[in-house]
Amino acid sequence: MHIDTPTVLIALLIGYSMLVLDLAVARRSLLAVQPALRDWLIGSVLILLGLVAIPLRLWMPVVPGVLLTNALITAGMACYTRAIWRFVLGRTMPGALWLFTPLGLVLLLGAVLAQATYPRLITLSSGVMALQVVPMLVVLVRHGRAGETSLRTVAVTWALCCMALAVRALHAEVDPGNYLSLDQPGWVQGFLLLAGFISSVGAGFGFVLACLERAARQMEHLAATDGLTGCYNRTVAQTMLGHALERCRRDQQPIALVLFDLDHFKQVNDQHGHLVGDQVLRQFAASVRSRIRASDVFGRMGGEEFCLGLPGTDRAGAWRVVEEVRAGIEAIAFTGREGCHMHVTVSAGVVSVDPVRDQQHWRALSIESLYGQADDQLYRAKQQGRNQAAMA
Ligand code: GH3
Ligand code: MG
Ligand code: MG
Repeated sequence: MHIDTPTVLIALLIGYSMLVLDLAVARRSLLAVQPALRDWLIGSVLILLGLVAIPLRLWMPVVPGVLLTNALITAGMACYTRAIWRFVLGRTMPGALWLFTPLGLVLLLGAVLAQATYPRLITLSSGVMALQVVPMLVVLVRHGRAGETSLRTVAVTWALCCMALAVRALHAEVDPGNYLSLDQPGWVQGFLLLAGFISSVGAGFGFVLACLERAARQMEHLAATDGLTGCYNRTVAQTMLGHALERCRRDQQPIALVLFDLDHFKQVNDQHGHLVGDQVLRQFAASVRSRIRASDVFGRMGGEEFCLGLPGTDRAGAWRVVEEVRAGIEAIAFTGREGCHMHVTVSAGVVSVDPVRDQQHWRALSIESLYGQADDQLYRAKQQGRNQAAMA
């Protein structure tokens, strides 16, 4: 079999041009992951230039040609590593990982001065590139699994690229006769170039998919949560409470619904301003979240009113949670205007239903009816002087 290396290079140039176009378009619309996409775009442009420089070796002296392509490709791969670091770990890449480019150049220059053969130069440059893929693979394997599914494609394609580069480095050493020039007939050189670079193009498309996946997740999160407090918004909370009630009905488990309303909150805004009011709402939500289970449903119904669904929790358990929240809020010294401390209290209306105790009503219960009963209890708690809970 014969794989024509110049044809392979043309195919790679087309593939990389497509990737650059794709990245440039994606970068314009995916604002949240823009810095990582920009790194990948710069990396792809550098590698594209490196691929353009490879055929120039046929017309220019070998040494500057090898140095130029090596510098462009390793710098491009450093940009990919930076993108992976930002995207997966949310951090800047350690500065030492930029050193692959100078390291490659020093090794190649040293080899040239020692009058190394062309296949030896291939071994060195491919070996450095294979090593450069390793940090990306480590990050993707160790930390990417919890992230976007498309990151697995990126990991697999980088693993293939790393293998192709490592085999090229070893093969050029073991069988240098296959690597005497770029346009040499045969299949090994062309195949390994193809495998190494096509898999890195694949990694690029996988990365764009991972960015799209992240954007979709963020949109889902924004649509389901309240922007100020981070808890579910009213629509999602009501739907989830409906599901929780259904589950409890099926499993014959009790459920409790609590409505919280901050006391005299208008005064907090009037005396300390809306920014302080917002901070109080955020802290209240965080305080409740720290006291509930992952299966509980906590949502903001509007303004300073929150609901809490407690599936699988009986009357006594619900009362305990509500009292903890109430006392916890009372104890917080909020920072008001000009740094002064103030205290805020909360009232709660609680309704608890039990499949054994409430056998007759249990089947006819709906979230709306529970909400109505909890609201009546909240009204009662307010009437009785606030900073307390009332239970049906
Ligand atoms: P009560 O004890 O009877 O509940 O009195 P209250 O003052 O808490 O009740 P009221 O319903 O009169 O006032 C609610 C206030 O909540 C009025 C509104 O300005 C404020 N509020 C609603 N949403 C927000 C918000 O997102 N941020 C801030 N800072 N304030 C809000
Ligand atoms: Mg209120
Ligand atoms: Mg209110």
